[in-house]
Amino acid sequence: MPELPEVETVRRGLARLLPSHTIQGVVSNYDRSFPNAAADVQQFMIGSHVTAVKRRGKVLLLELDTNFTLLVHLKMTGQLVYRADGGQRFGAGHPNDSLVGKLPDNSTRVTVELDGAKLFFNDQRRFGWMRLMPTPEVPNIDFFKKIGPEPLSADFTAQDFKERLQRRSNTTIKAAILDQSVVAGIGNIYADEGLWGARIHPATRVKDVSAVKLNRLYTALRDVLQLSIDKGGSSDRNYVDASGQKGSYLTFANVFRREGQPCPRCGHEIVKSRVAGRGTHTCPNCQKPPGSV
Ligand SMILES: [Zn+2]
Repeated sequence: MPELPEVETVRRGLARLLPSHTIQGVVSNYDRSFPNAAADVQQFMIGSHVTAVKRRGKVLLLELDTNFTLLVHLKMTGQLVYRADGGQRFGAGHPNDSLVGKLPDNSTRVTVELDGAKLFFNDQRRFGWMRLMPTPEVPNIDFFKKIGPEPLSADFTAQDFKERLQRRSNTTIKAAILDQSVVAGIGNIYADEGLWGARIHPATRVKDVSAVKLNRLYTALRDVLQLSIDKGGSSDRNYVDASGQKGSYLTFANVFRREGQPCPRCGHEIVKSRVAGRGTHTCPNCQKPPGSV
């Protein structure tokens, strides 16, 4: 599933490529992927220009000069691929062969036709969506009203993080950091990596984690997210974006999908278990299970 760093990778690529283009047409073959009425698309999207590409949590916001915004949520298997008529190509999101193959293909749900280029929204499992809405209404949709602060923003402090976690004091720390209303955009990979970095067992109740460890977790989460953005996302299959970069965070992961391998810090074998309903990777030596000490 594309997580915050992959969505940020998409955002940066599209922010470079989309402004200056005029939207000339939209073709959608699946209503739930793009539910807007044709008349609204015609009036507020066709002929418009993308003025900015923003991100909030895992949602992309393509702002148009009609004062409408095209929201995109990639969900499980979504990806966006930009292809210029001259051949330049940029794709990111869910890593599969559609990023580099012939498009449209059988995963293409929406094609946005631009002057001299196309933007493909591919989504094999069809949980993702695109939606056009008036820009002033964007902050009022349920999703944005509930979502927590951006973990990498300058004004998100360790103190904010701890205060927000205290509202979930009886839940496990892993469930709490995966809760998008506590902090935006932390998914399974970064939860496991951050908890390993802070030496906290994911099944520990929030109220049982010391302030020192919560400070460490705040730093560890920001570090792994930033590292992943620097590496172009967490893709575990090789693909190349327009600048020839491979998404490679999983190459640098310390515990995620490393069960059976030695912990890079202490050499103990990494184990996989289930916490907060998710596959969870820990070093049982660095991350003592709750009640064991
Ligand atoms: Zn260890």
